Amino acid sequence: MLERQDFRENVDVVLDWIEKYFKEIESLPVKSKVAPKEVYNQIPGAPPLKSESLQSIMSDMDKIIKPGITHWQHPNFHAYFPGNSSVESLFAEFLTAAIGAQCMIWDTSPAAAELEERVMEWLRDNMAIPGNFEGVIQDSASSATLVAILTAREVSSDFTATTKGIPNNLRVYCSTETHSSIDKAVGISGIGTDNLVKIPVDDVLAMQPEALEAAIKADIEKGLKPSCVVAAIGTTGTVAVDPLKEIAAICKKYKVWLHVDAAYAGSALLLPEYQWMIEGIEDADSFVFNPHKWMFTNFDCSAYFVKDADILIRTFEVLPEYLKTKTRGQVNDYRDWGIPLGRRFRALKLWFVMRSYGLEGLQSKMRKHIALNDYFGKVIIESGDFEIIGKPFLNFTGFRLKPSGIDDTEVLNKLNEELLESINKSGELFLSHTKINGVYTLRMIIGQTYVEQKHIEKAVKVIKEKAVSLKSHT
Ligand code: PLP
Repeated sequence: MLERQDFRENVDVVLDWIEKYFKEIESLPVKSKVAPKEVYNQIPGAPPLKSESLQSIMSDMDKIIKPGITHWQHPNFHAYFPGNSSVESLFAEFLTAAIGAQCMIWDTSPAAAELEERVMEWLRDNMAIPGNFEGVIQDSASSATLVAILTAREVSSDFTATTKGIPNNLRVYCSTETHSSIDKAVGISGIGTDNLVKIPVDDVLAMQPEALEAAIKADIEKGLKPSCVVAAIGTTGTVAVDPLKEIAAICKKYKVWLHVDAAYAGSALLLPEYQWMIEGIEDADSFVFNPHKWMFTNFDCSAYFVKDADILIRTFEVLPEYLKTKTRGQVNDYRDWGIPLGRRFRALKLWFVMRSYGLEGLQSKMRKHIALNDYFGKVIIESGDFEIIGKPFLNFTGFRLKPSGIDDTEVLNKLNEELLESINKSGELFLSHTKINGVYTLRMIIGQTYVEQKHIEKAVKVIKEKAVSLKSHT
């Protein structure tokens, strides 16, 4: 058991571990190779009665934990979306943990509340989000979207849903490509997933605004009440961008809450050349993006902006005696801006990252990732055996193996499923997949903080080698 005065003497054990981890990370299998229950079975069924040394805990960290880690910070982590970190963000997390503040209200750490207010303004003002939006950090985009849907539910029920129960005629709309967190939020909100209307998409997998308007109109005619539309700026499958301007005009016309889920692609709004993605945002009500995906700020950190913070607070405010303060009304008590009472000091890592990189540093890293993606798109098709599915966008490319002479979709789907498995088993890189109009598509995402051209060259080499060996077996 350590006391605070033991810190200096022991900290090197941990720092050395981290330093070694950073040095060896590129030699570790990107995707963990452990079998189900392999880690569990190595952990004793009961905690120790007596204190164990830090050395012995760290030794198990190497023996038991490390093999069970999928290395998200490996530059060849190209699966899902990145959950990238940075040295700066890590340092801030050290400090956050050392301070250990629970930042539920302004009084419980004014610096946390006021830094949060400021860094959210920094983001807003540099991402083309209008100045009348206010920001709050949530743990995840899923939570932020739940907050948006609960707020919309309150507005649609004249603020009676929380007190009297949920009206049974509320409707929520999103495209067929929208993230599953919308389904989850609509279920949790009590609106019911049967009342989540999935709007069809066009050939680039973006929501069709005419279909949205038709669905809203049809619902109104049936006596139902459109409550919320969720537009996606960067869908999970293919980073498709819904036409926000048209969607916003429809929401304005029918007085429906518009929530924008830019969980992944939102970081690119720091690049002026991508700010077209949120044209129409002034008519949206809420917006979320995750610095913990592509802004070098480690999980968890989700930036949520609302146009009318009073409505948000009215939805979530409860005021027990012990939380009444003299500063109420003059400051932001963020416990009222979301679901949990307790809050981590997450603004600190955003502040560290934004100051250490500077806006230009953030922009140049993202542009580099976009350029690496362009490079990947070019070289992957050079052998003639691969094809790009859809259009590469930002740092995403969808592709598949398509040897000449094989045209059957099911055969190709199976082949690509096997290819993905053999790539990921190699431990050299980690990719994930999606299905686009029934076509099994491998997803390449180039967004890990420290990824370089040599990593993409390696990825291409492995993908091609695995494809050759698969073809020779079929
Ligand atoms: N929205 C989109 C478009 C996503 O891609 C994801 C996750 O990848 C989410 C929401 C959920 O994000 P979180 O893990 O922060 O809840």
